Amino acid sequence: MGSIPFLNLDPMHRAIRKEMAEAYQRVYDSNWLVIGKELAAFEAEYTQFNQVQHAIGVSNGLDALFLCLKVLDIGPGDEVIVPSNTYIASVLAVTHVGATPVFVEPRWETYNINPELIEKAITSKTRAIMPVHLYGQACEMEAIMDIANKHDLYVIEDNAQAHGASWKGRPTGSWGHINATSFYPGKNLGALGDGGAVTTNDAELAEKVKMYRNYGSKEKYYNDVPGYNMRLDELQAAFLRVKLRHLLNWTQERQKIAQWYDEALASKKGITIPYVHPNATHSYHLYVIRTERRDDLQQQLKKEGVGTLIHYPVPPHLQKAYKYLGLQNGDLPVAEEIAHTSLSLPIWSGLTKKEVNLICNKIYDIVKGF
Ligand SMILES: *Cc1c(COP(=O)(O)O)cnc(C)c1O
Repeated sequence: MGSIPFLNLDPMHRAIRKEMAEAYQRVYDSNWLVIGKELAAFEAEYTQFNQVQHAIGVSNGLDALFLCLKVLDIGPGDEVIVPSNTYIASVLAVTHVGATPVFVEPRWETYNINPELIEKAITSKTRAIMPVHLYGQACEMEAIMDIANKHDLYVIEDNAQAHGASWKGRPTGSWGHINATSFYPGKNLGALGDGGAVTTNDAELAEKVKMYRNYGSKEKYYNDVPGYNMRLDELQAAFLRVKLRHLLNWTQERQKIAQWYDEALASKKGITIPYVHPNATHSYHLYVIRTERRDDLQQQLKKEGVGTLIHYPVPPHLQKAYKYLGLQNGDLPVAEEIAHTSLSLPIWSGLTKKEVNLICNKIYDIVKGF
């Protein structure tokens, strides 16, 4: 067996090649490339999938988050609670509208924001809580919504990693007042380029997002607000329509692969496997283990031809970009420890049980030698 890359889109893309080619031809022959039928159809299909009233296709996940904050009128002087171990984009959206991120640590077990720590972080300036369904596992949405309602705060879900996951049977991306997702190619639902969406049950907010994504205009050349160009184009919408039809199968395949890993690694000393909360489902955007000598394990796996990645090596508060927030090493120990010990293993459609077992045997041999 040759090397096993961290991510290989080839088997998935090969399987839907014909459908994707048809989608391409349909758009090409229509000569209608922006804000048209494909986008409207994808939005309708995505509302069905995500069990929400409105879905608005946008340019990418960061822009989706930004637009959520923008239409809630969150800006300078406001605080937004975000998990300390999230991908930088969640935090970038907050600072791009001029608001201040307030970091709350995750639970060790789930890697998701710990609701028990949220209330302590609320101040008179807090406007919103942004739970991130990290690696594909749903956050504790009921507890988070209760806290938000009690303190009159908005909830904005960052659902970029969790298409297809749910908390108590209700999909992620349908709980918050307004929510964002990404269709970056490597995400569980990925375009052939950049894409994203905002989801909400609030018609007024949905209208505003539609305006802001398209120069602030409802009617061409009449601009109600100073908007942006943050549109999802027709080709990407058409490709996403094809992929959405397969998403349930692909999610189940990811869950099956995760189970193979669980079975092979559960009893291995020195390895912590993912824990899934009994009320949550996990769409396994990433399969993340934790281990003490993570860097050594990654290097040796690389030598053996197994690709892995670290999500994420530096938490947002220690990034150069956020030096101005004045936080230091030691301030958010859970996020820092996760950054030091976590390792994401290959998980993609087409990865075989044989390959998973091979990876696990290699991990076992390497860790045994430490
Ligand atoms: C990928 C990702 C984003 C950003 O999405 P883009 O489409 O790359 O802009 C935001 N939040 C999280 C948690 C992500 O994983």
